[in-house]
Amino acid sequence: MDFDPTPEQREFCAVLETFAEKELNDDLVRRDHEGEFSRESWRKVAEVGLLGLPIPPEYGGADADAVTMMTALEAVGFGCRDNGLLFSVHAHLWAGVSPIVRFGSAGQKTRYLPPMAKGELIAAHAMSEPGSGSDAFAMSTTAARVGDRYVLNGTKTFVSNAPVADLFVVFAVDPDRRGFSGVSAFLVDRETPGLSVSPAIGKSGLRTSPMAEVILDHCPVPASALLGREGAGAAVFTWTMERERSFILGTALGTMRRDLERCVSHARTRRQGGQAIGGYQAVSHRIVDMRMRLEASRLLLYRLAWLIDRDRPTQVEAALAKVFVSESFVQSGLDAVQVHGGYGFTTEYEIERDLRDSLAGRLYSGTSEIQRSLAAHQMGLTSRGARR
Ligand SMILES: Cc1cc2nc3c(=O)[nH]c(=O)nc-3n(C[C@H](O)[C@H](O)[C@H](O)COP(=O)(O)OP(=O)(O)OC[C@H]3O[C@@H](n4cnc5c(N)ncnc54)[C@H](O)[C@@H]3O)c2cc1C
Repeated sequence: MDFDPTPEQREFCAVLETFAEKELNDDLVRRDHEGEFSRESWRKVAEVGLLGLPIPPEYGGADADAVTMMTALEAVGFGCRDNGLLFSVHAHLWAGVSPIVRFGSAGQKTRYLPPMAKGELIAAHAMSEPGSGSDAFAMSTTAARVGDRYVLNGTKTFVSNAPVADLFVVFAVDPDRRGFSGVSAFLVDRETPGLSVSPAIGKSGLRTSPMAEVILDHCPVPASALLGREGAGAAVFTWTMERERSFILGTALGTMRRDLERCVSHARTRRQGGQAIGGYQAVSHRIVDMRMRLEASRLLLYRLAWLIDRDRPTQVEAALAKVFVSESFVQSGLDAVQVHGGYGFTTEYEIERDLRDSLAGRLYSGTSEIQRSLAAHQMGLTSRGARR
């Protein structure tokens, strides 16, 4: 096995780290406080090529392999301290762009992918509902066929990017065929009559990534808006979630690496009781544990990317990596605050924000409990898999 990045990957990462550090962190403490999404940063991440990574060249992207994408995500996560912005990028790429690349018709690809790569069109993914989260296919949003179109009715919640999105990947069920096999996926433009977006939902972390409810009130969409065929929505959703949970914590590797470096530096320079605090075993072991979690997280995610590049099955590997990296992210966030003492709790030190941002990792793209259930099912331990 070769653990070294290629010279091209190394060079790309160096460019991304420097770019992200210089261009994406402006005024962040205030923007986080006010929950402000930065369109300027969005434009910049598009310019540097991040939004085109999984898009084929004929639609304006780079068609990067999975390992290259993972290295790029780690690099941008290291340089960019705006985890909310990066979360919006993830929501756009893995739950918006990727299913179109995989399941979209030629017309849908031509229409949507080029502006998505350029950052001119922002995507959102609308699956969760007030009554169905982990049990996603128990949804009540319906798609009734009326002549040559579908009429959508229902409310989606926790939709990341919704306040700024131009395109929604919406999942809805045939009212006459409820459950798994009745679900279809649709590409719904923001201007579609009957579609409205609630005011932004406030949250404790990822505050620069806006989230809202999406209300579909007799919302007509043409048959050409179907993503994949009618009734194939469950397959679209399952594939999309596996892809999302494989990459969504790639940037967390960069955040964990940055926080680790800050802890090492702080522990070597902060003196208490006549010595650097890093000289106390209780402090140094905590930092070593952070390093251990980071190394293990990197191995899990890079191997997962390697498997994706070889078209191997990754259901279990994606679930395990999602649980381990998200839980490591939270624990290392707690440790980073502890190592910094009272300073770690202040907004000025920008350590507590990473902890707040990390909390959602155990929830989005299927909770840790659901990932464990998915893995248990794949390992033949349970007869009914989790519904995500
Ligand atoms: C930051 C963030 C961004 C999100 N973005 C999006 C988005 O863009 N689009 C979208 O559609 N959704 C999005 N979500 C929603 C997310 O997918 C759901 O929050 C998640 O699937 C859990 O559903 P729920 O919140 O309804 O919790 P519930 O399903 O009610 O779960 C509550 C608790 O019960 C546990 N539980 C539930 N069922 C089981 C079970 N079968 N076995 C064991 N434990 C179980 C859960 O693990 C959890 O601990 C986002 C969520 C967050 C936090």
